[in-house]
Amino acid sequence: MMHEYAIEMVSVNRVFGKGAAQVAALSDIALTIEPGARVAVVGPSGSGKTTFLNLVGALDKPSSGVVTVLGHEISRFSERAASAFRRERLGFVFQDDALIPEITVFENVELPLVLLRVPPQERRARVRNLMERLLLDHRMSSFPPVLSAGEKQRVAVARAIIHDPKLLLADEPTSHLDTRAAEAVLQTIQELTAEKGITVITATHDPRVFTRFTSHVTLNDGRVVQHNPHAPEDADVTLHARHGLGDSLGVS
Ligand code: ADP
Ligand code: MG
Repeated sequence: MMHEYAIEMVSVNRVFGKGAAQVAALSDIALTIEPGARVAVVGPSGSGKTTFLNLVGALDKPSSGVVTVLGHEISRFSERAASAFRRERLGFVFQDDALIPEITVFENVELPLVLLRVPPQERRARVRNLMERLLLDHRMSSFPPVLSAGEKQRVAVARAIIHDPKLLLADEPTSHLDTRAAEAVLQTIQELTAEKGITVITATHDPRVFTRFTSHVTLNDGRVVQHNPHAPEDADVTLHARHGLGDSLGVS
């Protein structure tokens, strides 16, 4: 069987706007990421991190180039195919917890399983198990607004992972949290993804976050500028030369 990358980008560009107002949010991105990798996408504000995650998450399409995720060329997906792909294979955590305030914590975490038509009894068991593991079971019938920021974000992680996605995408997941809460959220992400071999891509400019990740993609002004300077022999992320795969840049 052919080797399947978690993520493959070939000559990817994303341009916003038209004419003089054009912004190149991502330019000439060519890389591969191995299954099970834990990657922090780092770089200053405006460097293209969110754009990168949105392309990987089938929330956006490149202006040119090819994005392949879990063996699917998602840059060619219809809106409908993209949404099914997100629902089944991906989990998302955003800067704000994005929980639905009018339903309970339990119902929030259960929602992805409802959308996937998992039978009610199985849904209940899975949500209960996960909430107990996260020591959040006492919060199950609470409504999100009464939770602390850290608790909300851990519930958001539970919701992102309850359906066993293959890939977890997190965009600045700790930026609104104090250090202790941030640590708890990162710990939760790490534990839940490691045991299931879920690939994790986290965009962040928070040093508390990126020092915990073993692989890094550093963006500046829409380009990959540097490849994990602290561990040159990164087995999980490979950068490729501008015109396609084959000749790795070997940047260290
Ligand atoms: P980061 O997440 O690293 O802060 P972004 O990916 O959000 O960076 O943005 C990269 C660049 O693309 C910025 O210059 C930003 O202003 C621009 N950009 C992002 N999204 C849009 C959009 N929908 N319309 C126009 N410009 C955008
Ligand atoms: Mg961003």
